[in-house]
Amino acid sequence: MSNALWFNVAMRCRYCGRMTEAHESEMNSYGLSSEYGDEWRRPGDRLAIPEPNFDDACLRVRPLPARGLVHLIELWTCKRCGRQDWAHISLEREGDEAYRFIGAEPTALSAEALANVQLISRYYADDILAEAEAGSMPNLESHPQGLAPEGESG
Ligand SMILES: [Zn+2]
Repeated sequence: MSNALWFNVAMRCRYCGRMTEAHESEMNSYGLSSEYGDEWRRPGDRLAIPEPNFDDACLRVRPLPARGLVHLIELWTCKRCGRQDWAHISLEREGDEAYRFIGAEPTALSAEALANVQLISRYYADDILAEAEAGSMPNLESHPQGLAPEGESG
């Protein structure tokens, strides 16, 4: 059984410029946690991630390194303005199932932005890949589950 792994890290919104503090973070990867309930991690924390959890939570665009940096694209929500944006989350693989949460920051999507990324959120994979291909700014004002935008503003 797997649950959500929450990444508690302060993030500055690319839209409104304000900070969402670490404890307010609205950023998680569903399926990545191996604990009985949800799991909350801050930069520097070590955690265990069994290999199958990556397939629950993520789409693999590249194989994971045996050791070293692992990059994941997830969705996050600004606590101040409510806008959704993408986050580039970095983990360090220290052992087979042993990882350390390095940190995260908001990111635009482009082919370059995904160049060293191994994992993208399974739930938003279609949006991530489409935006990376288009090189566009995030536009997830609509419900982020593959529904068509209600009022495309361009
Ligand atoms: Zn904001």
